[in-house]
Amino acid sequence: MLNFNYSVPTKVFFGKNKIDLLAENIKKYGSNVLLVYGGGSIKRNGIYDNLIEIFNENDINFWELGGVKPNPRISSVRKGIEICQEQGIDIILAVGGGSTIDCAKVIGAGFYYNGDPWEIVTDPSKIEDSLPIATILTLAATGSEMNAGAVITNLETKEKLGTGHPSMAPKFSILDPTYTFTVPQKHTAAGTADIMSHIFEVYFSKTKGAYVQNRMAEALLKTCINYGTKALQEPENYEARANLMWTASLAINGLLSDGKETEWSVHAMEHELSAFYDITHGTGLAILTPYWMEYSLNKKTVDKFVEYGVNVWGINSDNDKYEIAQTAIEKTREYFNLLGIPSNLSEVGIEAEKLKEMAKQATRRGKLGNFKPLTKQDVLNIYKKAL
Ligand code: NAP
Ligand code: FE
Repeated sequence: MLNFNYSVPTKVFFGKNKIDLLAENIKKYGSNVLLVYGGGSIKRNGIYDNLIEIFNENDINFWELGGVKPNPRISSVRKGIEICQEQGIDIILAVGGGSTIDCAKVIGAGFYYNGDPWEIVTDPSKIEDSLPIATILTLAATGSEMNAGAVITNLETKEKLGTGHPSMAPKFSILDPTYTFTVPQKHTAAGTADIMSHIFEVYFSKTKGAYVQNRMAEALLKTCINYGTKALQEPENYEARANLMWTASLAINGLLSDGKETEWSVHAMEHELSAFYDITHGTGLAILTPYWMEYSLNKKTVDKFVEYGVNVWGINSDNDKYEIAQTAIEKTREYFNLLGIPSNLSEVGIEAEKLKEMAKQATRRGKLGNFKPLTKQDVLNIYKKAL
């Protein structure tokens, strides 16, 4: 296990009706709020009306930035910063999924940056501070509600990049699983795949001796496998939604990754798909993952795949190593199909002619990952197999 400093400062209020704690927690930071939300799901499911009632009853002043799109745009960030500067905003409240939360985080950091906010996305070292961020999560997927990262898209330059700073970690997050009852099938599936991918990115690592992180990772993977399909069949199953929600937060808050060398190759490859084609993040990850696994399987990595196959999928450990590994990869693919996610990039509109350019962009900062380092050519090979 490697050395690390662990700190997750976000307070989590988890469960039904935890919104009752919203006003008193906002007031710790002031009474001028920027409410950030997406394309209207919170208006359709009643969360918005409830919030307005709470703001009015508690003399909280609020300004709105609605319409944040999936794969949140830098243009929304710029609008949000302008409102914060003009209105003296004390705290930014993001209500929605990862896109809304990520947008809010970069607004918060951009507020203190003297320049265009795209510069703090391309170079996180320029971030010094952020306005306080709070979240009300409505989709179990990204874990953005409990970490300091954000991913922003620039449509003009066709770039989708991750950034982050400790000051961007939410001060508090309200996680009420009932808020995810209305998440449509496609996003329930994509969210589950995203959670699983966050776990894979840190589970498949060369670091030895991180036993506790590995066993926790397997428990979280099994939770996704158990409840992902259940949530699709029964969208209002509280147990399923609650388990997915808490797993999403735990999967990417440092608990599994601290003390390990991490991978993040599939995310880097997927970000290009989203940047070029604006596809759903989790869908892209689920398509690429089994191909990445097949490509990464070799003499040096096979034992890790055996660990995965035996501990997560219950494959008989007496079988031949490569047979276990291949069965585990096939089970992963089958599970994503069971969630209703296709197996090929062409099925979500990706074309062969852009693959080369996307592979170049994915490796613009150098090789991807450590478990099986990927060059531009490797990325292109994986894209081609996945097409
Ligand atoms: P999302 O893009 O925030 O939302 C996807 C869709 O789900 C939207 O159309 C949204 O509609 C809808 N939705 C959300 N909650 C709903 C509800 N309760 N009922 C009905 N519809 C609902 O999805 P996401 O997967 O959470 O976020 C994806 C983004 O996060 C990507 O850009 C990805 O790259 C990034 N990401 C960030 C991190 C991180 O650590 N920061 C990690 C992984 C990925 P409305 O817009 O109408 O609300
Ligand atoms: Fe992700």
